Amino acid sequence: MQFSDVVGQAAAKQNLIQMWQSGRMPHALLMLGQEGTGGLPLALALAQYAFCEAKTETDSCGRCPGCQKVSRMEHADLHFSYPAFGPKVLSKQYIQAFRNFVLERPYGSSYDWLQSIGAENKQGNITAEECRSIIDMLTLKAYEGGPKIQIIWRPEYLGKEGNILLKLIEEPPDQTTLLFVAESTEEILGTILSRTQLLRLRPISPTEVAAGLRQRGLADERQAAQIGQICAGSFSEALNLVAQGEGDMLPALREWFNALAMNNGFGMIRFVNLWSKAGRESIINLLSFTLSVLEAALRLSYLPETHHSLPPQEAKFARKLADRRLPADTYRVMIQALTKASFRIERNAYSKSVLLALSIQMQHALQTASMQPH
Ligand SMILES: [Zn+2]
Repeated sequence: MQFSDVVGQAAAKQNLIQMWQSGRMPHALLMLGQEGTGGLPLALALAQYAFCEAKTETDSCGRCPGCQKVSRMEHADLHFSYPAFGPKVLSKQYIQAFRNFVLERPYGSSYDWLQSIGAENKQGNITAEECRSIIDMLTLKAYEGGPKIQIIWRPEYLGKEGNILLKLIEEPPDQTTLLFVAESTEEILGTILSRTQLLRLRPISPTEVAAGLRQRGLADERQAAQIGQICAGSFSEALNLVAQGEGDMLPALREWFNALAMNNGFGMIRFVNLWSKAGRESIINLLSFTLSVLEAALRLSYLPETHHSLPPQEAKFARKLADRRLPADTYRVMIQALTKASFRIERNAYSKSVLLALSIQMQHALQTASMQPH
């Protein structure tokens, strides 16, 4: 994995490269970002950079033996710990499965990983035995005489066993870097947090998500742009959306809003009938797409110079809506109704009645607004 394979995260990449180049890499670094922001891919890119024999100012070379070993996750001085299940389980018992999983799905979640090894509803954890094995492994001399890197994916699963690692974190062996990749600090011991340097990963911007999908040849321009809008900054969510094969949602949105604005009952019912058959995921995607367009329209109404990340056709639609100068309260009512409807559909409510109620609320909000003087 090279830095150029990691979606977005320009600031974090630059930060990591600078720290490595200047020799100011902390002994223990905690990369913290919500699911899908790419913590593990970044850790892998940094490891590859560290072991690369021909690195540049911006990336590893991708071709030297060091790069090749890291890209197969087989470098002898790169170690991985991750959640697994079973008493006294060690990560190395699952290393081949873990390699296969990460190489295939570098943006996969720990839930997906645990399911892939058959955890079902068993609790994943990183055991005390694994912590001791990390210490043993890192105390050994580096096989290749250079740096040693230990990636601990999801230290949330360490629980109180994390205390075993404290001394290692405080006084690591020479040239040793511990990279913790976490999604939330809530379940990590304060004693670990206070001994690690924090690197925050931001949600990935819609344009970066779209570029990442295009770079992988997974979506055409319009689909990539729409998925960028609705994946909430998570590239794993974006990949899920691609897998669901979501088509272009703008025509549906346009037709729905035309019916609502024109008070066209038939058009509204046609929309409800059509979309209630679409499957829960698709409906939720359409509703969050609608939300992103409405939020852009709201911003354009009140801050016309504002920056938005909508693709051109969506932006045109949002601008037309903004030109109607709806009061902010109308947007508030519509946004609340959409959020609520999405929540209900996620919880298995009957989609036809949810979509009908939603359409009536939206229509009412639009109609009341158009009768008010501006
Ligand atoms: Zn290289």
